[in-house]
Amino acid sequence: MKEVINIQNLTKVYKNGVVALKGLNLKIYGNEIFVILGPNGAGKTTLLYIISTILKPTEGSVYVMGYDIAKEPGKVRELIGFAFTEVTLFNTTVYKALWAHGRIYGIPKNELRQRILDCLNELDIINKADTIIWELSSGQRKRVEICKVIIQRPKIAIFDEPTITIDIDGKHKVWSLIKSLKKYGSTVIIATNDIYEAEYLADRVAILNKGELLAVGSIDELKKPLGREVLELEISDASVISKINHLGRIIVSGNYVRLYSDKLQDAVKEISSLNGVISIRRLNVTLDDVFLMLTGGVKL
Ligand code: ADP
Ligand code: MG
Repeated sequence: MKEVINIQNLTKVYKNGVVALKGLNLKIYGNEIFVILGPNGAGKTTLLYIISTILKPTEGSVYVMGYDIAKEPGKVRELIGFAFTEVTLFNTTVYKALWAHGRIYGIPKNELRQRILDCLNELDIINKADTIIWELSSGQRKRVEICKVIIQRPKIAIFDEPTITIDIDGKHKVWSLIKSLKKYGSTVIIATNDIYEAEYLADRVAILNKGELLAVGSIDELKKPLGREVLELEISDASVISKINHLGRIIVSGNYVRLYSDKLQDAVKEISSLNGVISIRRLNVTLDDVFLMLTGGVKL
């Protein structure tokens, strides 16, 4: 696999002293969908802005298809399409904004027109084509922002929280468009705090918390150490915790305990006989569990 983005020892300290990224090392490969998963404030947007040359790093280096972001920012920008969390296009109609964007990237007129209509149709905003963007709802505006990158078909497509204000039906449509970029050869980078979105889209995931990368890998690789299932117990008595400690790895949050073990059946039997256990549920392991385990109990 050829690396498309190579990040070395990347640190970002804002002027107010906030350390948003701490010595990150990361490679993103060609034609993959790479998801950066982390809670608010993790440093996701900062990382995407540095890759895209919007912000400068404090230390370290980033290469985008071999170009050093510090030395050839213009070359880097030509390769990237960026859908922002907050919509950037505003004081013009939906169609005109997308048209202007596409023309900047040299998409031939007939082709561009078709791509715009297809995207607006797909996301159910074709009837808004001649509406001024600031008159749209936030979810509709977000769809325009997504179309901007979809019509561009850039070498590197970046989506910052792509479905944050979009309803569930719309989310699936956005996800399907994002996936379709792979067939045009794009490498896709997505930042999100939505586990379902990450599980649905990612070829590989990076888990980012407080400016640090906690893990990078495919979803299966990340889940593997935890097994397929987790037991979730509701307890009424904290003494239960010391009694089940030997059964596997546990994470406690309030009255709930999650137990990871490769012998779940035996664990269920043993726990059933204990006082102070209100309920036991068997759940599939998700990226949420991976995150809980890596942070020692912090929820996404
Ligand atoms: P995320 O996108 O994961 O929510 P951000 O990259 O936006 O995280 O922010 C990471 C950290 O940097 C947060 O603590 C945030 O408050 C801080 N931060 C972001 N932008 C700025 C800025 N322009 N000036 C100072 N601090 C900032
Ligand atoms: Mg952000």
